[in-house]
Amino acid sequence: MPFRATILTLYPEMFPGPLGVSLAGRALERGEAIVETCQIRDFGRGRHRAVDDTPAGGGAGMVLRADVLADAIDAASYEGDTRPRLLMSPRGRPLRQDYVRELAAGEGALIVCGRFEGVDERIIEGRSLTEISIGDYVLSGGEIAAMVLLDAVIRLLPGVMGNDQSGVHESFEAPLLEHPHYTRPAEWEGRTIPEVLTSGNHGAVERWRRAEAERLTRERRPDLLAPPVRGTGASDR
Ligand code: SAH
Repeated sequence: MPFRATILTLYPEMFPGPLGVSLAGRALERGEAIVETCQIRDFGRGRHRAVDDTPAGGGAGMVLRADVLADAIDAASYEGDTRPRLLMSPRGRPLRQDYVRELAAGEGALIVCGRFEGVDERIIEGRSLTEISIGDYVLSGGEIAAMVLLDAVIRLLPGVMGNDQSGVHESFEAPLLEHPHYTRPAEWEGRTIPEVLTSGNHGAVERWRRAEAERLTRERRPDLLAPPVRGTGASDR
């Protein structure tokens, strides 16, 4: 069974978008993954198919209605659908490689893309949505965030990466940042390739790469080396 992603969005024309090319594009073509969309507006209310309304308590912007979203989610779910239901949200659990791997091992995901000020809070509990954030900044909608998540997941699906080894040493898998890469020409604008990489000594190459990965991680992301802080809420999510 291919990994099946169902995206609930007001802008289905955005998909597959960048997922339609290169590695992910080939995976979709070969049927290793399915990315389908569901237009939330089809479940809108009244003659104008309204999907949003003004925030209770006042304030700027519009809020996506829980009843409309619930109808869309229910229609997009199949018999016995056990896929995780995600809501892209800046308040969510920060997306990390371990969760990407977990998703890639599953059947797929149903992904709700917010717009405007966000969604009526009641839908989150009402349809057991897991909020996922792709970073500490605010996008105008959940679609690009969903694409980021799916791009990361699809490349991990069985058979998608030509060389199955190429996932092993990458940033965050280790959990170290990746070592630097070089390719021809041997000299470019007076800059050369570290000698060890052209030495033919595979053991030395491995040791150099490991040392560089550790150095870069220490310098740039010491938080990745620190033991995880548990039980304090935000920092251990
Ligand atoms: N008023 C909200 C932001 C809404 S942005 C707030 O301040 O938290 C509109 C939609 O974009 C959100 O509902 C969400 O689906 C999506 N979005 C914005 N930033 C995101 C992020 N960092 N990660 C994932 N989704 C995001």
